[in-house]
Amino acid sequence: MDQTSHVALLPSPGMGHLIPLVEFAKQLVHHHHISSTLIIPTTGPPPQSQISILESLPENVNHVFLPPVHLPENLTNVESQIFATMSLSIPSLRDTLKLLSSTNQLVALVVDLFGLDASDVAKEIGVHPYLFFGFTAMGLLLSMHLSKLDKMVTSEYRDMPEPVKLPGCVPVHGRDLPDSFQDRSHVVYKTLLKNVSWVTAFEGIIINSFLNLEEGAIKALQVKELGKPPVYPIGPIIQTGSSDGSNRPECLKWLDNQPSQSVLFVSFGSGGTLSHDQINELALGLEMSRQKFLWVARKPSDKSDAAFFNAQSQTDPLGFLPKGFLERTKGQGLVVSSWAPQIEVLRHGSTGGFLTHCGWNSTLEGVFHGVPLIAWPLFADQKMNAVMLNEGLKVALRPKANEIGIVEREEIARVVKELIEGEEGKKVREKMKGLQDAAGKELNKDGSSAKSLSELAFRWKN
Ligand code: UDP
Repeated sequence: MDQTSHVALLPSPGMGHLIPLVEFAKQLVHHHHISSTLIIPTTGPPPQSQISILESLPENVNHVFLPPVHLPENLTNVESQIFATMSLSIPSLRDTLKLLSSTNQLVALVVDLFGLDASDVAKEIGVHPYLFFGFTAMGLLLSMHLSKLDKMVTSEYRDMPEPVKLPGCVPVHGRDLPDSFQDRSHVVYKTLLKNVSWVTAFEGIIINSFLNLEEGAIKALQVKELGKPPVYPIGPIIQTGSSDGSNRPECLKWLDNQPSQSVLFVSFGSGGTLSHDQINELALGLEMSRQKFLWVARKPSDKSDAAFFNAQSQTDPLGFLPKGFLERTKGQGLVVSSWAPQIEVLRHGSTGGFLTHCGWNSTLEGVFHGVPLIAWPLFADQKMNAVMLNEGLKVALRPKANEIGIVEREEIARVVKELIEGEEGKKVREKMKGLQDAAGKELNKDGSSAKSLSELAFRWKN
């Protein structure tokens, strides 16, 4: 093995940020013999979900935890907490990078969107900074257009009469833009705006998307402009899951006994949570649909991202479900608490649909396994992803919420039934099959994603 090139990877907190970088590291070592170290910022002991993933890293992919940082108590939203974790970790990152570069041929530091400040540390040490943009190509275009948009629009974006039209993308109404765009006086929006020239700090931008999924946006990103680094679409990079046949989780055994493509998998990512009233409606809607379901449920919260920092570190007793629900739906469905082996569920032949919060990793996993979607976005960029999946690609149905933002049981039952056995569901399934085929081809030796990764690897090795 060519041991000369080594890459440092800096994921921000959250399973959805760690998993794609882990998979990226595996691709580098398997296909291009480039070794790497994941440098992981922390705010406390790592959750079990993280430990399990890191324990199964292949040879030549290492990891180190940075010492925990203490977050100020006034940080109310997840994005501010992530930004703060990353910037408070800069001193220990610097030390770790120095150590790594003294023992390895360290060629690049790859950071995600929350770690922009780390590009300065990389330059200080003489390492090339790269950005891993783990969201949509459309999201990257939006960030690049932010300064223009900010000048053009005077109101809050959600009050704009016309949708935002980015080159090559489906039009998106202001209310469906990411959460960080929803309050222009908020510190997170102001930070994004201040960082508008961030793109020039990097020598390349890696995106977890692929040509057939976001052709218009990717082509727009690849137009050469002064100061714009090359963009490498290398997706879909998704969790491969465990091949360990022993200790097979109960929910997979349950799936083994269900008819082909009959079960709706319901999951809101690693940290998504619903209010008490919404959980009630979801439970009764699933029951009313009479379709099979496998639901990863978390205890209710009025914040939609309440479990983000401690995915799988708690198992909630299911006492918050409506009275008698579990007994009445025995045989129809299974509820698991907090966490499921999502990738194994999605590739299981009994899974016929995926009700998802539209986190980008979950979306790519659904696409890769050809599972049609119900789009139920909660926070961050998920509403914009939902628009793309539902209105642009037509691989998802999207239920409507009432005037106070609750999706009612009748609407849930209707959409679930439609996806699993209706005519609309059939069309969505066919479209998804097409995308699945395309995703597989992109990763083949001659596919455009594999070629992008080779170009990047070539740059790092030379
Ligand atoms: N995940 C999982 N089991 C769960 C919930 C989530 O394995 O019960 C994984 C999922 O497969 C995906 C990641 O956690 O790889 C979630 O990332 P995503 O971007 O979809 O959402 P986020 O958690 O960042 O909101």
